[in-house]
Amino acid sequence: MVYRAEYLWIDGAVPTAEIRSKTKILADGAEPGIWGFDGSSTNQASGDNSDVVLQPVFSCHDSIRGGDDILVLCETLLTADLSPHPSNTRAPARAAMEAYGDQAPWFGLEQEYTLLDPVTGWPSGFPEHGYPRPQGPYYCGVGAVKIYGRELVERHTTACMEAGLAISGTNAEVMPGQWEFQIGPADTVTVGDHVWVARYLLYRIAEESDLEVSIEAKPMKGDWNGAGMHTNFSTEKMRNDYDAIIAACEALGAEGKPDEHLVGYGIGIEDRLTGAHETQRFDQFSYGVSDRGASVRIPWQVAQDKKGYIEDRRPNANADPYVVATLMTNTVCGALA
Ligand code: ADP
Ligand code: MN
Ligand code: MN
Ligand code: MN
Repeated sequence: MVYRAEYLWIDGAVPTAEIRSKTKILADGAEPGIWGFDGSSTNQASGDNSDVVLQPVFSCHDSIRGGDDILVLCETLLTADLSPHPSNTRAPARAAMEAYGDQAPWFGLEQEYTLLDPVTGWPSGFPEHGYPRPQGPYYCGVGAVKIYGRELVERHTTACMEAGLAISGTNAEVMPGQWEFQIGPADTVTVGDHVWVARYLLYRIAEESDLEVSIEAKPMKGDWNGAGMHTNFSTEKMRNDYDAIIAACEALGAEGKPDEHLVGYGIGIEDRLTGAHETQRFDQFSYGVSDRGASVRIPWQVAQDKKGYIEDRRPNANADPYVVATLMTNTVCGALA
């Protein structure tokens, strides 16, 4: 007998990297080993030196195909010396874990996304001509005139659970057709692995519906919330001590750090971080308890308990979770060391 391994990797698409995949049939008992692909078709190589190596790094049950089939997330390596490809953002995340893993960094990423009608290109729930009722009833809403795409969302959630991903919740968001799932808590590398596989499952399941998934940061201009990837973060110290919570916020606001982080927080950050719609402006940094207009929020419960985690509200939905987690680990753990 044989089984299928779906190899997944992150491409070199500009400005926003995306997930790619292809199928390998393996004999029962055979391990999914190193493989390769044509990098000239993914913006990762030139045609005259096109091979890029796939190194399996994380496997899980393929909850779409079922049976013995698996998903195999890979890092991309150069053929010359098997070093990480320049587009391989997981390698720096591994380095951050090697440097600061002893501080036990944990992440919870809130991946927001928008379901689009593939014909009109508008969010599902938006009428063909004109606009729906303004924001208000949709966030965590229930009922047919508020909620669009729940069947797809439920299927995706089940698929993540059955694959063994660290999915920790889902909710309908502030704009019609907008949703969120959360992955975490998980370390700097694992959170990226699980977010990328969860994105793959979402796109893959959406192929079978008549909806399109967008992780664009500001899919509707005007008075509609954008889509973010709020990044909840703690170290062992922060989980035990409020001084470390404040020190983490200060580290994120230190000279040069806000700009350095925004570069890695996704495309179109200025369009989303306007100071309205539960954001702080991209050119200002602030932190505060319960403040959804701050760059970094200290949850109310954390201020009560005097320990816990912080929420960096700046990353866009289209950010690379490896890049976000690497920046956060290096900045905060570097300061708390
Ligand atoms: P919000 O109230 O901002 O919508 P969510 O409930 O959507 O927050 O997401 C919170 C995320 O934070 C979850 O993924 C959860 O697993 C994660 N989380 C909880 N505790 C911690 C912690 N100590 N460190 C890091 N992440 C955490
Ligand atoms: Mn949330
Ligand atoms: Mn949200
Ligand atoms: Mn949040």
